[in-house]
Order: sequence, then structure tokens, then C-alpha cells
Amino acid sequence: MSDQSQKTIVGLDDSPVVTTRVEKSLDSLLTLCVRDDECTKSEINATHESSKYSEIDALASLLQEARKTIVAQKRQLLEMSQRSDALARAQAEAIVSSVEIIDELERTKHYLNEARNAAEEAAADTQRLADTIFERTNDGVLVLECRHSITCNDNALSLLDQSREQLIQSWPRAFDTAQSETADNLSHKFDELYNNAVNGFVGTVEAMLSRSSGETFWGEVTMSSFCVKDGGHVLAVIRDVSSRKRFEAELRRHRDFLDNIINAVPDPLSVKRLDQTLVIANDAFCRAAGVNRNEVIGRTAVGLIAFDDVSEIGEILNSQRSSSLSGSFERRYRDSIGVERVSSIKTSVFSDRESAEHYTVSTSRDITEARNREQQLQLLASVFRSASEGIAILTSGGFIVEANPAFAKMAGVEDASRLVGQSLDVVLASPIEHYSEVISKVASGLPWSGKSAVMQADAVVSSYWVSLSCSLQAEDQTRIIALVSDITQLDSSQAELKRRALCDPLTRLSNRAHFREYLRDSIAVPGSTGTICFLDLDDFKHVNDSAGHKAGDDLLCQVADRLLAGLPPNAFLSRFGGDEFAVILSEQCCPTARVSDAMDELLLLFREPFVLEQSQATVGLSIGICHYSDVSRDVETLMQSADIAMYVAKTAGKNCVRTFTREMQESVDLRHRVKSRLQNALSNGELTLHYQAKVDGKTTRTVSCEALVRWRAEDGNYVTPSEFIPIAEQTGLIGPLGDLVFEMAVKQACKWAATGVQPSIAVNISPHQIRDPHFIQRCVRTLSENQALGEWFELEITEHAMMDDVHHAVAVVRELSSLGFRIAIDDFGTGYSSLSYLKHFDIDTLKIDISFVRDVVDDAHSQAIVQSIISLGHGLGLIVVAEGVEEPRQAQILSDFGCDILQGHLFGRPVPADQFEFGSVLGSGL
Ligand code: C2E
Ligand code: MG
Ligand code: MG
Repeated sequence: MSDQSQKTIVGLDDSPVVTTRVEKSLDSLLTLCVRDDECTKSEINATHESSKYSEIDALASLLQEARKTIVAQKRQLLEMSQRSDALARAQAEAIVSSVEIIDELERTKHYLNEARNAAEEAAADTQRLADTIFERTNDGVLVLECRHSITCNDNALSLLDQSREQLIQSWPRAFDTAQSETADNLSHKFDELYNNAVNGFVGTVEAMLSRSSGETFWGEVTMSSFCVKDGGHVLAVIRDVSSRKRFEAELRRHRDFLDNIINAVPDPLSVKRLDQTLVIANDAFCRAAGVNRNEVIGRTAVGLIAFDDVSEIGEILNSQRSSSLSGSFERRYRDSIGVERVSSIKTSVFSDRESAEHYTVSTSRDITEARNREQQLQLLASVFRSASEGIAILTSGGFIVEANPAFAKMAGVEDASRLVGQSLDVVLASPIEHYSEVISKVASGLPWSGKSAVMQADAVVSSYWVSLSCSLQAEDQTRIIALVSDITQLDSSQAELKRRALCDPLTRLSNRAHFREYLRDSIAVPGSTGTICFLDLDDFKHVNDSAGHKAGDDLLCQVADRLLAGLPPNAFLSRFGGDEFAVILSEQCCPTARVSDAMDELLLLFREPFVLEQSQATVGLSIGICHYSDVSRDVETLMQSADIAMYVAKTAGKNCVRTFTREMQESVDLRHRVKSRLQNALSNGELTLHYQAKVDGKTTRTVSCEALVRWRAEDGNYVTPSEFIPIAEQTGLIGPLGDLVFEMAVKQACKWAATGVQPSIAVNISPHQIRDPHFIQRCVRTLSENQALGEWFELEITEHAMMDDVHHAVAVVRELSSLGFRIAIDDFGTGYSSLSYLKHFDIDTLKIDISFVRDVVDDAHSQAIVQSIISLGHGLGLIVVAEGVEEPRQAQILSDFGCDILQGHLFGRPVPADQFEFGSVLGSGL
């Protein structure tokens, strides 16, 4: 049951007073009941009033019930009252706190009002401030949206010289026409700047902006983004930086000017901190150090640049801390290629007023050359002092300014200073001719040198060589350097040397060099005519070989004397060496027309024998003449021409005179031509061998043959050996030609040997081959290469070749003979050989010269010679061969005389190998 219903049941209201009263009445009733119950019950029962007691019981029970209810209610009431109290209290508290909250809210509201007011005021201030800044800033400010100016301050208008209407709602025209310093259009930079700003990046561009008036100014435009509620905007601030730009330009100009000054310093210049960090380095410095300025600035210079390494000074300055210190140093270092150089470093220190930091400024200069020059000068000074040559320095007028001790000695004074001011001409005992003229020429730059001799009684006592040369000194002062050498000694030794150089020591005649010099001087005289004669003694060699060298020398001296005696006076006679002499006859000394007669007279003179110590000798002269009005006036050509003429005289039979002719020159030219053709012939197979039979003197059976070279030239014509063999001899081609002939003969011999025939081939050997030291070696090699035998060959050596150098020929022949070769003396009888030599030669055969055979039939002398040769040959155990047998009568006589072998056209002409046959009987028989 609820509290309310209980109250209703008992009829009680909820007021505490009623409750309490009910409770009290109930309590008293209850008390009564309980007391009655306990105390009068027996009495009631006694009275037997049962109904009354039942009602009371019911009532009591009801009361009891009520009492319980009341108790319960009382309890409930108590609880409710408690709760109600608590509630009331809570309500009271809530009311209190509500009031407090309300108060608080009021306060907060108040505060908020205040704050709003303050914020509004602040916003108004900020707006005012922004407006003030916007309007009062010196910069032009634009607000851009979608590349359009939506607002701007007045400055922007005045900076760009535009009206608001022109500027608003458009992209500033000044941005489109903006230019760089170099007048490049920078509109793209502004586009970029704007786009960056839209993307949140602040940027600045400096550009030359133009106003509407066309006037320009330097503007620094910064763009940044800012957001307002209705979207992103870009704030563009334009600042007129013209004056800063001007200032910067001025600064740049100053800096460039300073840079130029620094770089114009020709020496390496650097500025460093005390810790040697490079602050400034000029061009010369970078060049000399081979460095790039950007790479070294800010880096330490220690060890970087050897020539400017002033680390010591850094240390000194570090320790002294003096700002006024300066000094110069010298540094020796090795350059990049290891050469030692010297640099002079001048350095000074200054301190920066702002930072109080010390800097060293140093310039360095490569003084290696100067140092070297200094040393050279010192050296020259010592040379000047100690030279044995006299050296004097003269004014341009020829007066002595300074002289060295050697010069003083020459001038006969002890102290050189005593000579100062005197004329060189006067000081030297040997005056210089036309001294003042000489001096003025030298002063004008023409050097002069000459001899000055001190004469005494027409004889040179001493002589000086004086060289004068001009020298320009400082301040354009002309000085003349005089070098004076005492050449007295030199002069006499030179004269002696010259005499020796130009003199033939044996005959005391001029030698070839002197002849050449004299001839050169003679022909140099314009219009001069004259003759040169080359004289060659005939057969001098025989005298030399037979009578000995001493007798030969004696003979040469006598020849010289006889020539001098026989030649016209003033003839210039010289000996070229050996048995060659040459004469120059000027027109005055011997007119051209008379030269030939004069030479004939000489030949006559030479018929007279020369008396030697133990014998007599007659020598002829082969003389070649060349008139020098006729031919080219050049020494070499003239001498060559006379030589050609002399050679012609020799080949014409000796002891005669020949005058140079054009034909002679032509034959010389021919010789050159033949030589070059022969050179080719040697290599392209134009040379072959023909074989001429040699027959037995009695049976005319072919016993051997002679190999004779044949030259079929390119044009198909044969060139005869007499045409080319002498040329080959003269030009040295006979060497390779002889080798070729021998090789061909060897190969042919091998072919014949292979057919079972015992070959016997005579091969001609030239004098040149005999003289060749490798000749024998080559013969041996050719034999062995072809497996041929030496005994298959007879080597024909002319008597002339044998007699050329008898000793050598004896040795060569001996060696050849030891190799199995048989040796024949060819053209025997023409070489005037001393028969006594024959026994020394290891020879097998004598071959009588064709000239004796030719005349053997008719000429008694030839017969006698042939007979003697045959008997001589046989006496020496030699085989005797006669060549050039053309007629049967010749063959008969020769055979009758006992000639062993015959050779000649009678038996057969030289034929190619395939036409030749050993063993055949040739000729008509004897
Ligand atoms: P030589 O050695 O005295 O040779 C003999 C020369 O007489 C040859 O002339 C030959 O053809 C010639 N002859 C032979 N029989 C007669 C004759 O009955 N009447 C006349 N009139 N002549 C005759 P060739 O071939 O013209 O040679 C001339 C010279 O050339 C040779 O004289 C020799 O000295 C030289 N010669 C030839 N061949 C060679 C060679 O291979 N080497 C060298 N070094 N000299 C050679
Ligand atoms: Mg011969
Ligand atoms: Mg001969």
C-alpha cells in the first residue's frame, strides 16, 4: 500500500502534526488496551459481558493493526521526512548553486560582452592599422584574384602611374612589360611569381617596370597568398628599389673598378687572413699558380702556391699582432717542371676596422731572370776585370770611359782609371786609320773590326785586333765597346799555318787549296783571261816502285824545279799531290795563243832524264789545257775541264798536250749517260757473256775459252766493252759488273761440267777488282754457292793492273792461285813491266798483246818482241797465249815461235755459250 492510501485509510493527512496526534491517541489507546487487557480481563470475563469484550478485542486488534500500520507509516513517514529533508536540502543547495551558476553566467556573459567589445575594438584597430598600413606604406600594394587586381593602394597607382580604373580588374600592364637589366622581357617571371604565390610560395622578382608615362623604375615585386573567407588572393607588394639599384650599380662599379685595379697589377697579388685563408687573388696570381680563382678563394693558401707561400709571415704576424708590419721576403721554390725559381714577396698587413681582423696583402714577383741577370752581370764584371783581352768602353766620340786591366797593360799604364777621357786611338801605340770616321760609323750602329799594327822600321813589331761595336745603354746613351786582342803571336803562327796549309811540303810549291784560291781570285777579276794546265807525270809509278819512294820524292822535287825553270816567269805552279801538277798562266804571263807552244817546250825539257841517286829516270808529261775565257768562270768547272783534257792526253798515248774542247765535255757527258744506263743494265739482265775459243797452237783444237761481256742495250744495239768497260772502271761500276760476269761464268762452267766436259774459262779481272779487299772473298762464295772449282777458271789480269800496285797484286795473285785459279797476264807487253817482277808473281800464262800479234807478220820488231815474250814465258814455265790472231800467217808464225795457245777471229769470234764447243778443231788448221 502506498503512503497516500495508508493516509487515506487511517484518515490522516500527511501533516506531521496530525500524524503525531494520531500517533499519541493511538498510543494511549493502546496503552489502555494493553493495561485493560492485562489487568481487567479477568474482571470482564467475570461479568460475563462477552460482546463488549469482543468488540474491544476487535478494536484492539484493529488498533493493533492500526498501530502497526501507524508504526510502519510512522517509519515511512520518518523515512519520507528524511527524504524530504534531504530533498529539500538538495533543492536548497540546487537553488543556491543555480543562483551561483546564474551569477556565473551573468559574469561570463558580461565578460563575453567585454571580450566581444574588445575584439571588435581590436578588429577595428587592426582594420584601421591594415588600412593605415595599406594606405601609408611606401610600397604599392595590390590584391589580385584570378590574375586581376581587385584592390590596390594609392602608392600602387602612383608607382605605376595608373588610375584605379585602369588598374582594377586587370593584370598590371607593368608586369607584362617588365624588363631585365639587359632589356630582356620578364613577363614570364611575373607569371611564375603569381602562380607560385597561388600555390603558397612567396617569391620576389626584381625588374625594370614601366609607368604609363613610359618612364621606368626598378621595382621589387613580392607576391604572397592570403586567404579571406570567400577564397584565395594574392598580395603583390611593389617596392621602388631604383635608388637601391643605383646604389648597387654604383657599388658594382666600385667593385669592378677595384677588381680592375687589382687585376691590372702585373705581379701576383693576394690578400689573406692571418690563418692564410685567401680572400683576394688577382688574375696574375691565379695565372701564375695555375688555379681557378673560385676554387681557391676561401681556402688556405699554405702549400697551395709555392711562389707566394708566406706562411712564415703569418706566424710572425700572429705572434706580433702588429698592424703596421710589412716586409719583403725571398722564396726559392721549384716550379711544376722542377726548375728552381726565386720569387720576391712584398707583404703588408692591415686590419679591418669593423671586424678588427688582420689581413696580409702580398705581391710576389718572379725574380729568377733578374737574379740570373745579376749573376751574369757579376760574371761579366769579373770577366771584364780578369779577361786577357783588352776591353774599353768608349763614348760615342771614341773617348775612354772605362777600361779593364788588360787594356791598361796594352796601353802601358798600371791603373786603368788613368785612361779615362783619352782617345782610344791615342792610347794604343798602333793607331787606327781614319779613327774619327770609324768611330762615327760604329756609333751609328755599324760594327767595325780591323788590325792595327805597331811598326818599327817597316816591320810589324806587334799587332792588335780591334773590334768596335755600338751598345745602347740606359737613357739612350751610346757607348762603344772596344775589344782589343794582342794578335802578334797569333798573326805569326797563322801566317805559318797558312803557308803550311797552302804549301806542298815536299816541293814547297803551292798546294791544291792554294791553287784553287789563286784561281778563284784570278777569274774574279772582270775581263781577265788566262789558262790553267794540268800536268800529270807519265809512269811516275814505275820510278817510285822500282827506285823506291825516296827516289820518287827526289824526282818530284826535280820535276818541280824543272817546271819552274821551263815555265814563263810569274806562272803560278802548284803540286796537287802524287805526280799531279797544275799551272795558272795569266794572259800577261803567257798569252793564250802561246800556251800550247810553251807546253810543248816543257815536253822537250822533259826528254832530258832526271838524275837520281842511283839511277836515271825519264818521265813524260800528259798535259791538259783549259783557257778560262772560253768556259764557265767557275773554279770547279775550270779544274774539271783541265782534268778532262789531261785525261784525254793520257789516253791519247801520254807525253802530249791536249786543250779542252766541247767534244771532250760531250764525251764526259756520254760517260755519265753510259754510267746511268749501265747501272740499269746490271739489274735488268742486259748483260750476257760470249765465249771466244782458245785453240792449241799446234792442233787448233779448242782447249779453252775467254768469257767476254756483252751488253745488249734496251734499244737492241750492242754496246762494245771498249765503250763501257773503261767507264765502268772510272765510275766504280766495274765492281758489281765483275761480280756478275764471274757469277755468269761460274754458272756456265757448271752447266758444261754437268755435260761431262772439263770446263776451262778465262775471265777478265779489272784493276779495280784487284784493289777491292773483298774481291777474293766474293769469288770464293760464288764458287761454293755453285759448287764450282777454282781450277776451271783462268783469271786474266792486265799487265797494267798488275803494275798498278805490284806488292798488292803479288799478294792477291798468290791467294787466288792458292784457291786453284790459274792466272794470266793479259795484254802482256804494253805495261812496260819490269820483267824482274814476273818471277814474284804466281802466274800461269802470258797473253801477248794484240798489237804485237797484229804486226808479227810484217814487223821485225814485233816478231822479236813476240819471240822474246814466248821464250821468257817458257823460261818461267808459263803458257804463252797470242790473242787477236786473224790470219793464218800470224797463226803459223806464232806456232813456229812455240806459242802454246792461239785466240782470234781466225778460230772464231766470241759466241753465246750454246754455240760454243770444247774440243772442236777450228780455223783451217796450221
Ligand atoms: P781482252 O781481254 O784483251 O779481250 C780480247 C778482246 O779482243 C776482245 O774484245 C775480243 O773480242 C777481241 N778479239 C778477239 N779476237 C780478235 C781478233 O782476231 N781481232 C780483233 N781485232 N779483236 C779480237 P772485246 O770483247 O771487245 O773486249 C775488249 C776488252 O774489254 C777486253 O780485252 C777486256 O779487257 C775487256 N773486257 C771484255 N769483257 C770483259 C769482262 O768481262 N771483264 C772485264 N774486266 N773486262 C772485259
Ligand atoms: Mg782478256
Ligand atoms: Mg787482251
